[in-house]
Amino acid sequence: MPRTRTQQKALAVLNYDLFQVESLSKPAPVTLYTKIREAAKVTSDIEPSISLSEGELPPEEELARMYERFNWIYFGGRLPSVKIEYSTRMTSAGSCAPHRRLIRIGRKYHELFPDELADTLKHEMIHLRHFRHDAAFKAEAARIGASIKARSHPSLRKPPKYIYVCSVCGREYPRQKRLRMASCGRCSRGGRFDRRYKLKLKKNQD
Ligand SMILES: [Zn+2]
Ligand SMILES: [Zn+2]
Repeated sequence: MPRTRTQQKALAVLNYDLFQVESLSKPAPVTLYTKIREAAKVTSDIEPSISLSEGELPPEEELARMYERFNWIYFGGRLPSVKIEYSTRMTSAGSCAPHRRLIRIGRKYHELFPDELADTLKHEMIHLRHFRHDAAFKAEAARIGASIKARSHPSLRKPPKYIYVCSVCGREYPRQKRLRMASCGRCSRGGRFDRRYKLKLKKNQD
């Protein structure tokens, strides 16, 4: 799949994916549903009116329609109804909370990789039935043509501002925010603060 200039820049900055020769030309704008139909091998259907240009993401109502569509195409309509929302903070492609019937789609990730939206949704839909990326999950991913790996773009992962360490077991706790009165979760009993295992600041990038 050809990457856009923005994507290539992001990858080049990270010195990542450099061995792949790619053209710098922008891909032609495609409608989301062309992609879905290709993926689903559906040839005859009413053309929905939505058309996406690069970096432009469909509204949440459209995600709900995609979900319905995939539900019928791939799951015989047997998946429960769930809420699908964008997350602006999440740096991963997507997440799924089956018990809350909630699928979240990472906005930042898909602003960079808009072509992967359908794939992300399919991946998260499998999670409604299979919590982990186990053999059953992989079989389902192969069946409906979804990615197995949970994806997250390296440029979206911020380095931690603070790293705390437990001086007893040595476990590190990278954090974006300061911790006050925190003790090591591995060493402290019962999830309570325990002064003996108080975390010490090891790195401070402020
Ligand atoms: Zn996953
Ligand atoms: Zn510890």
